[in-house]
Amino acid sequence: MRLKPNFASMNIRQLFQQHVAQTSPAPIALNITSASGNYLFDDNGKKYLDLIGGISVCNVGHCHPRVVAAIKEQAEKYLHVMVYGELIQSPQVAYAQLLAKHLPPSLDCVYFTNSGAEATDGAIKLARRATGRPDIISCHNSYHGATLGALSLMGDEYWRNAFRPLMPGIRRHYYNSPELIAAIDSQTACVIIETVQAEAGVIEPDIKWLQQLRGKCTETGTLLIFDEIQCGFGRTGKLWGFEHYGVIPDIVLLGKALGGGMPLGAFVSSHMYMQTLTNNPVLGHITTFGGHPVSCAAGMAGMEALLEEQLGEQVAEKEQLFHSLLVHPSIKAVRSKGLLMAIELESPDHVMQTLQHCLEKELFFDWFLFAPNCIRIAPPLTITKDEIKEACKITLECLI
Ligand code: PLP
Repeated sequence: MRLKPNFASMNIRQLFQQHVAQTSPAPIALNITSASGNYLFDDNGKKYLDLIGGISVCNVGHCHPRVVAAIKEQAEKYLHVMVYGELIQSPQVAYAQLLAKHLPPSLDCVYFTNSGAEATDGAIKLARRATGRPDIISCHNSYHGATLGALSLMGDEYWRNAFRPLMPGIRRHYYNSPELIAAIDSQTACVIIETVQAEAGVIEPDIKWLQQLRGKCTETGTLLIFDEIQCGFGRTGKLWGFEHYGVIPDIVLLGKALGGGMPLGAFVSSHMYMQTLTNNPVLGHITTFGGHPVSCAAGMAGMEALLEEQLGEQVAEKEQLFHSLLVHPSIKAVRSKGLLMAIELESPDHVMQTLQHCLEKELFFDWFLFAPNCIRIAPPLTITKDEIKEACKITLECLI
């Protein structure tokens, strides 16, 4: 007979490894006891300056008072009441209206989901339904989520291969490549790209390429989808990443900062396209919890705080401060679009060692899926100039 482990004698780290499904052989495993503003606090009394903001989620900082108040207020009124789309839930309506007000007029209809990956899947279904076409084009080195649909779009063989067979009908080409534009034809339902490629290590689109891509999609009746899940909500210095390039998609994907720290995603398109989800079949996309009233109330409070505190407007100056301070023989390049930044080092080992040393000095960083030579910087947009100076000082000390 196998003996059961003695759970009573296990500490929280062992229980975490035993009972919470693990996806990494070496999780960071800090035991977070609270988070506030730009800091995380752990059970050893340590205070970490957060340079990744929950991976581009906490744009207004951790536990923004306005977000917490909105959560409490909504929680006292009602939580889940009915599956998506049947009852009028005022937090959903109000947030959809606010988003539509700040998006171009052609993006006026919001489908709220639970996560970014679900927004990706919903958008692909919408593109196929609206065009009646089968094919999808995505990019090498792209990341749109980990559900089977979103994973099928993913542009890296290592990460997707173990889960085959994937969704058929997908072709991948390089971001910024003329081949991608040439591949669009009358069978292409949609082209999906990240407005700024994040997991590839912060790669910007070439503006002319983006304009030509828009032109070819319009000419062929193909829907253009921009994934703004990581670069939306002021991270690049404008509310939406696509504002830098003057190109408007047919569908935009939102997530991460959308919920103000609560789980929320969305795909946003025109009312005309969205109507195709209401018949033949009815309930063209279904979710029980998508657009949860507490998440919508939190997200709306977060977006209002972001706008009123003019956090996006301060991004360019903070980005420049990072650039001016991150100078070191071991740093090969610093790529950025606003406060979405990649510090390129010699090797993946060098990245991991630096992350570990920084953590010991209470500075919290992360890495990228498809750019193992790079350290990720995506702090809360509320990070102060003094905190940036402190973060860069520690980083340089830890580079060896
Ligand atoms: N799209 C992009 C660009 C992302 O960075 C992510 C998550 O990292 C997703 C989609 C998927 O979002 P989620 O993890 O909420 O499913």
